[in-house]
Order: sequence, then structure tokens, then C-alpha cells
Amino acid sequence: MYRLILLCITLLSVTLISAQDYRWQQRAEYTMDVRLDVKTHKVTGTQKLVYYNNSPDTLHKVYYHLYFNAFQPGSMMDVRSRTIADPDGRVTDRISKLKGDEIGYQRVQSLKQDGKDIHYHVEGTILEVTLAKPILPKAKTTFDMKFESQVPVQIRRSGRNSREGIAYSMTQWYPKLAEYDFQGWHAYQYVAREFHGVWGDFDVKITIDPTFVIGGTGKLQNPDKIRHGYEKAGTKVSRPSGELTWHFLAKNVTDFAWAADPDYVHEIALVPDGPEVHFFYQPGEKTTENWTKLKEYTVKHFQFMNKTFGKYPYDIYSVIQGGDGGMEYAMCTLITGERSLSSLVGVMAHEVSHSWYQGVLASNESLYAWFDEGFTDFSADESMASILNEPNDHSGSYNGYFALVRSGLQEPMNQHSDHFTTNRAYGTSAYSMGAVFLHQLKYIIGEANFYKGMLRYYNTWKFRHPEPIDFIRVMEKTSGMQLKWYLSYWVNTTKRIDYGIKNVLSDTDATFVTLERVGEFPMPIDLLVTYADGTTELFYIPMNEMLGNKPAESTTQSRVELETWPWVNPTYTLKINKPVKSISKLEIDPSMRMADINRKNNLMELSAEMKAYEDPTRK
Ligand SMILES: [Zn+2]
Repeated sequence: MYRLILLCITLLSVTLISAQDYRWQQRAEYTMDVRLDVKTHKVTGTQKLVYYNNSPDTLHKVYYHLYFNAFQPGSMMDVRSRTIADPDGRVTDRISKLKGDEIGYQRVQSLKQDGKDIHYHVEGTILEVTLAKPILPKAKTTFDMKFESQVPVQIRRSGRNSREGIAYSMTQWYPKLAEYDFQGWHAYQYVAREFHGVWGDFDVKITIDPTFVIGGTGKLQNPDKIRHGYEKAGTKVSRPSGELTWHFLAKNVTDFAWAADPDYVHEIALVPDGPEVHFFYQPGEKTTENWTKLKEYTVKHFQFMNKTFGKYPYDIYSVIQGGDGGMEYAMCTLITGERSLSSLVGVMAHEVSHSWYQGVLASNESLYAWFDEGFTDFSADESMASILNEPNDHSGSYNGYFALVRSGLQEPMNQHSDHFTTNRAYGTSAYSMGAVFLHQLKYIIGEANFYKGMLRYYNTWKFRHPEPIDFIRVMEKTSGMQLKWYLSYWVNTTKRIDYGIKNVLSDTDATFVTLERVGEFPMPIDLLVTYADGTTELFYIPMNEMLGNKPAESTTQSRVELETWPWVNPTYTLKINKPVKSISKLEIDPSMRMADINRKNNLMELSAEMKAYEDPTRK
């Protein structure tokens, strides 16, 4: 018995080790002690970084991001923003006009590896460090850095003096180690968009003028000492005369962001069985009323997300007025605050949902923006539809995709987010097409499998940087269907879905319906037949790549499962055992979850005398 147990333990540990070897991940433990001078807008301080190399590779170099360097005339971000066909209105040529005391920079003053000075070189927003001693597999090293930064005038996301008058939006504000994984280094020059980071812990001390209130990632460790901003609403606490040091801790995150303003009010709402949600905003005519109402929606949104997509794992989250729109960070978001209630609730829902996909799953949003933004958009829409009791059809996302197809600007969505030719193609691919990817997956595998799979995906891959194939594998295991074709067509190509009803032929007691695959993208087909007596029947045609059938989604709708449609076949004929005079309507995909670019040929109304029919709208 003992031997058997020992054997089992040995086998189990072998399995665990090989699983880790296959998908290892690096780890970074940051300890930062910084001071922000609110007169010069400069941050000075120290950063101690303990880096664990869990890869099988010996590392001779490491790379850091120095994001603030993007906010300088002539930077790659400046050039990109001035030359892209459809520039972001918040950026345009603003970087090119920054003066010396308005630009951003991050300067390394000294850098040591395990106590020894090391060589480094800065190129734009990337710091390349040549190690004195290579980091062996499974070894760790400690970097000690002194740095100075100038906080730029707010151009995009980070910076000082936002349009709404928030003093400091401190995001991507520290030298941040680039991620290294099985694909190598992810040290991309910052030109506009998404971020990626190394899993780890942050212990951050920020010293600032005592009139400022700070909201940020993680949990404040010394609220008793700080008090200001953390007192009950309406009460005034006398401010200390010297500067204050705010001490935050955040464990198992990939980033640390914060914002500071002297006017912030600080309020808290509790999610039952969920996190404490902290709100920081400037009170006023354009904010107070809506931010007061926002709390209730935020609590409901967390409850919906916890139940539907998996439990938020941290005990705190902060919604902070700052930035220039809405942007997700670890355990917090910065959003602009002077919005209508519906806009404020919408941006909160989107950014909070990011905690699941960018925060906890933390897939590489630079490489697969759709895998984060699309999932975020989708889950936030599902939640809002549930809370506001609205239809859950994601029609906005579908319409965005159809409009992109019509514009002729569509590009494959699986490309580095910075490299899309236009902002429009990036935006629609990442957000709308990412959301359609999921709603359409419901159509393929059925609603019950879909929601089961979403929970399983989150619980399997949280804190592990999943890749798109990892998601699809979970969905394959949950549904028992093969789905790689779907991932490949939707994200790697611009092939489109278009199915149509080609013709209807009638016998004395049977009707033959021929369907046609007009587009190149193969899909399973739901065909709803409405009979003259008002009853309906759903004909389900699986596509052969799926190696399985979608289970019936409704217990009340009668359904006929037909033979598979091989994906190479341009047409498919099915037999309905009734004469044509007893059929009144045929409709492909009545649930409208298939992103069919031409729905005109999906529907056919039949009249009693009709014996044969050629759809005149078909080309
Ligand atoms: Zn987003």
C-alpha cells in the first residue's frame, strides 16, 4: 500500500514537472521606493528587482521598457502618430510639440546585478542590459537600479494634468522588465497600444506632498498613517506638514499603476463574497452624482463576472478618475470621469472585465489584442445586458465587423497590435471581432458548452499567460468537438462567411432544399423551417471538421440532425418530408450568431404555388 502510494506520488510529480516545463513562466519581485516632486514633476527613486529565470534557457541579456521615453519629439510613437492614416485624436502631432519641461523620460542613473555594475544601453523605450553574469536556468538574480523620470504632460494614458484636471496618471511609470517566454523576449518599442508583463509581486513606497491622495494597484499598507483621503466622507483631517509616504503591496500581478490628485474623494463599496471596490474621483457637478450611482453598478458587475466567468481572485479593486478614456491595470483602472451615467457605467464594466482577461489570465495583448479586448468587450456586454435587462445579441460588435468588411480595410486580426495599418482595422479586429469570435462560438458548440468552457478556461489558465490555442483546447475538451479550424479561419485570415439558399425543388410529398456556401469560411448550419400551420422545425447540419455535433440548445424547439457537410462541398441538399405547399419560410441561422456577411440570401419566403425557385438576389 505504502509503495503504491509512493509510486502514485512519483508519477504525479513527474506529470506536474513536465507540465511546468512545457509552460514555464518568469517571475519578478519589485521593491520600489520613489518620491514624486509635485513642483518639478520628477520621480526619483530606487528599484530592487529579484528576477527568477524559470526558463530552460541561459539569459545573457535582459530588457526593460522605459515607456515615458515615447513622449519626446521624434520618438517612434510621435512618428507613428503623425503618419498613420487615421491618427488617434488624443495624440496626432502633440508629441512633436512638447517642450523640454513637458516631455517624458526615464533615465537609469545606476544599475547593478548582484552588487556589480553592469552595462546597459537605451534605444527609444527599450533598455537593453548586458549581464555581468548570465542567469542560468532555474536561477535568480537581483538588479538594483536608481532612476529618475520626468512625468510628461498627458498625451496618452500616462501623464500630468489630464484634460479633466487630474494631477498625475502614473501608468507605465517605472522601468518595467519585459516578459520572456517560450516565444522569446517581448521587448517592443512603445508606439501606441497594448502591454504585457512578468508575473510577480510589487512592494511600492511613494513619497509625495501631503495634500495629495493616491489610488492605485494593490492594498495600502499604512492607512492609519496616511488617513487623508481615507477618512469618512465629509470629515476633514488635519494634514501633516511634511511629505507622506504611501506604502502599497500587490501580490501576483503583472504591473503596478497609480494616480494622485489633491481633490480626490475616496469611497468604498463592498461586493458580497467579492472584493472591496475603492473609488477615487474629483467631486463636482459633472461627477459626484454619477460616481455615487456608479458604485451599485460596479458591485452588480463584479457579481455577474464572478458567477459567469470565474471568481476575481484579489480582495481589492480601485476605480480611479484619471487617464484619457479608460485603461485597465492590475487591480485597478483609470477612467475619465466627466461622463453621462450610461457612459460611465459602460467604461467601468469594460475596464473591470479586463481584470479577468488582461489581469488574471494575462494573455499577451500585444500579440493577440483580440484575445483580451474582444473577451473583455464580450463579457462586459453580457453583464450589462443582464443588469439592464437588455437583449444579449452583441449586435453592436457584429455591425462593427460588417462595416469593416464593407470599408475594405480588414486585415488578419492575429497580428501584433502595433502593426495594423489603420487604427480602425485594429480597433474593430480587437474589440468587435474578438467579441463576435465568442458569440459565434456559442453558435458552433451550443450555449451550455460555451459557458461551461469559459469558466473552465479561466480556472485552468489563470495566472499563466494562455495562448489562443490553449483557449480553443479547453473549448474542444468541453464540447467534444474539434475547433482549430474555427480559430484559424477567424483570426489568421480575412475569409468571410456567406451561406445562402440556392434553390427549392418539390416532389408530390417532399421538398428538396439546396444550400450554398458562397463564402470561403465553412460553418455548421442551423436551418429553421416554418410550416404553413405555424409550427417550426430546426434542421442542423454539422460541418465535418468539427468531428461532433452541437447539442440541442432548446428543449421546446424540435430539431433534426442531418449528415455532415464536408467543408470542400460548395452545396448541400436536404430533404424535408413535406410538400412545398406546406412550407412557408426557410431561414439559415435564425439566431443570427453567425457573422454571415450577406443575410439577404439566408431567408426565403415560399408561396403555396411555388414549385421551383431560384433566388434572384444571388449572384
Ligand atoms: Zn479594453
